[in-house]
Amino acid sequence: MEKPHFYSLPKLPYGYKELAPFMSEEQLQLHHEKHHQAYVTGANAVFEKLEQARKAGGDLDMKATLKELSFHIGGHLLHGLFWENLAPAGRGGGGQPAGILGAAIDKEFGSFERFQTEFSQAAVTDEGSGWAALSWCRMSNRPLVMQIEKHNVDVYPAFPILLVLDVWEHAYYLDYRNLRAKFVEAFWSIVNWEEANRRFTTLLKGS
Ligand code: MN
Repeated sequence: MEKPHFYSLPKLPYGYKELAPFMSEEQLQLHHEKHHQAYVTGANAVFEKLEQARKAGGDLDMKATLKELSFHIGGHLLHGLFWENLAPAGRGGGGQPAGILGAAIDKEFGSFERFQTEFSQAAVTDEGSGWAALSWCRMSNRPLVMQIEKHNVDVYPAFPILLVLDVWEHAYYLDYRNLRAKFVEAFWSIVNWEEANRRFTTLLKGS
């Protein structure tokens, strides 16, 4: 079968109601169906634009086009990772990382609590719209906290992402208004460590 040539919105691994009360049904549905969809649509529109320009042979503002594409692909990719690294509280969500990821976090940060503090601080202090991420550096064998501006700025190139938290206002405003720190606190109750550990195991196998 031919591989898809455009992006599409992935299904969530849980129902819209299942992350409540930490993330309400209304907040999650809007975020997934409208905001995430907008990045899928946006990236596909840039593909269309590129195809048309190639057919017509005309000039293209490459700087603006690639900036737009990077933004939309970043948004699509990060949201996909985000949905997968969430789970209903008490049914896969919450707690602390076990296994090799838990050990790597302890080794780097000294304790899970210290990691949590650094990650939360990265999320809370993100300027404007952005993400906090836990990534892995293959060169130094360290887990690193990454603070991503928008969807695509300040990203460490090619560092695989183990865990992400969306702190764009569209992720929490209906539930928490301006209180981003409350949302970041709630994230720890629905974080899916099993998925983060699975990503870590998979990438270590590949390197
Ligand atoms: Mn978002």
